[in-house]
Amino acid sequence: MDFALTREQEEFRRAARAFAEKEFAPLAAERDETNVYPVELFKRMAAAGYLGIKFSSEYGGDDGGNLDAAILFEELATASAGITLGMYCHVILALTALDRIGNAEQKRRYLAPGIRGAKIGAFGSAEAGAGSDITAIATRATRDGDDYILNGAKLFCTNSPLADFIALSAVTDADKRGISLFIVERGAPGLRVSKPIRTLGMHPAQTAEVVLDNVRVPSANRLGEENRGVANMLTAFAEGRIVAAAFAIGIARAAFDAARRYVLDRVQFGQPLAKNQVIQHRLADMDTDIQAARLLTHQAAWLADNGRPFVKEASQAKVFATETAARIAAQAMHLQGAYGYTMESTAQRYYRDTHVLEIGEGTSEILRNVIAKQLGL
Ligand SMILES: Cc1cc2nc3c(=O)[nH]c(=O)nc-3n(C[C@H](O)[C@H](O)[C@H](O)COP(=O)(O)OP(=O)(O)OC[C@H]3O[C@@H](n4cnc5c(N)ncnc54)[C@H](O)[C@@H]3O)c2cc1C
Repeated sequence: MDFALTREQEEFRRAARAFAEKEFAPLAAERDETNVYPVELFKRMAAAGYLGIKFSSEYGGDDGGNLDAAILFEELATASAGITLGMYCHVILALTALDRIGNAEQKRRYLAPGIRGAKIGAFGSAEAGAGSDITAIATRATRDGDDYILNGAKLFCTNSPLADFIALSAVTDADKRGISLFIVERGAPGLRVSKPIRTLGMHPAQTAEVVLDNVRVPSANRLGEENRGVANMLTAFAEGRIVAAAFAIGIARAAFDAARRYVLDRVQFGQPLAKNQVIQHRLADMDTDIQAARLLTHQAAWLADNGRPFVKEASQAKVFATETAARIAAQAMHLQGAYGYTMESTAQRYYRDTHVLEIGEGTSEILRNVIAKQLGL
């Protein structure tokens, strides 16, 4: 059994960390205030090879796997979770849909420019009446000759205000609950994107409502077989949980680092806070939880990359890592006392940013249902 990353993976991690520290970290606090996404970073991510991390070199990708993506997203999230969310929705949701169920022409038109950072993608599944139950969507796609006419609305669609295209789900067979995925391009008549929704954290990410009012989409823009859009994405969704777990570990690590620096520096009762054993134990537990979350996540990635069953492990990694991150962010804030509660501290940002990771990509409750099912319950 070998738990070490290979030399290439270690080198990749170092490069990703240097990239994130140079490009993401300096913007983290400012964009949290201004709520503006740094769109120019798509091109820089592309130049570093990161937007194609999981995709075939035939379309300009890096032929990497889930472990590479986990390494990358942990590093990005440590520097800025809000900026990372936009990249996550582009790579792990929108481009992955094209990669998995798109045909060669669709990959040429959307995946390849997406990998080059020339087109930004969004992915819309959630609706007002359909969150965890992704089959409960009300958006309809009705055949009209060689086109479909789409009507409905997607809620909480990250990147939609910036996106050149949105991959979204719509019912194509109401009787059999058949759902298909479509690519809708920016500027399509009848497509409206709201102003970004104000959220507790992840401020740079642009999450909005998408309204489809008789939007005509050619059948060439349907991804995969009709009525099989969601069914064919299930493996990709499960892999996404591995990367979401790594995302959470990145936030946890940033919160831990901030807490560690603070307790070493802050003097009370004539000594640094870190001299109190209760505080040392708190930090020891935080680091142990981060290590455990990373081991679960890398194990799930390894299983997925080696063609083994991984659905239970991916769900376990995501639940454990996201709940660990939320706990560590809260503890980091507490360890900073009143300062932690001010908007000057980074800990409050980690605390606000992390919670959504327990909601998106399968809430903790839904993933516990998945784990229980895998246990034969
Ligand atoms: C910032 C942000 C960005 C997002 N970006 C995107 C995006 O780009 N694309 C997209 O499609 N969606 C996006 N979402 C939406 C996200 O996918 C949904 O919020 C998520 O699927 C959960 O759905 P819901 O919020 O409707 O919660 P609900 O499904 O209504 O659940 C509410 C609560 O009930 C619990 N619950 C539900 N069913 C059960 C059950 N059977 N047993 C026990 N408990 C249950 C849930 O765990 C949760 O705690 C985003 C959300 C946010 C906040």
